[in-house]
Amino acid sequence: MSDPAVEAAKGAFANMPIMVEAAGTQPVLKALVLEVGAAAAREALRPIRELHYSVGAGTPTGEFAEKCCTCPEYWPCETARLVYAAEELP
Ligand SMILES: [Zn+2]
Repeated sequence: MSDPAVEAAKGAFANMPIMVEAAGTQPVLKALVLEVGAAAAREALRPIRELHYSVGAGTPTGEFAEKCCTCPEYWPCETARLVYAAEELP
């Protein structure tokens, strides 16, 4: 499952050659850097997640569906797909 925060941490790490070299002999350092990077990315995504979350809504046919609280789209909206981990979305 994809997690945008984890992917951001991996991308940032890969773009730091000095860190990649140092972590080559220190796997604990790499794990720690990736964990901190993912946590930082989650903090950066938090305000966006607070603007895009699922709420219940009726459909034109009278059925129940999930809708984004901000966007005029059913859940998950396009923004949600960028800021939520895959396992958090239906
Ligand atoms: Zn939305």
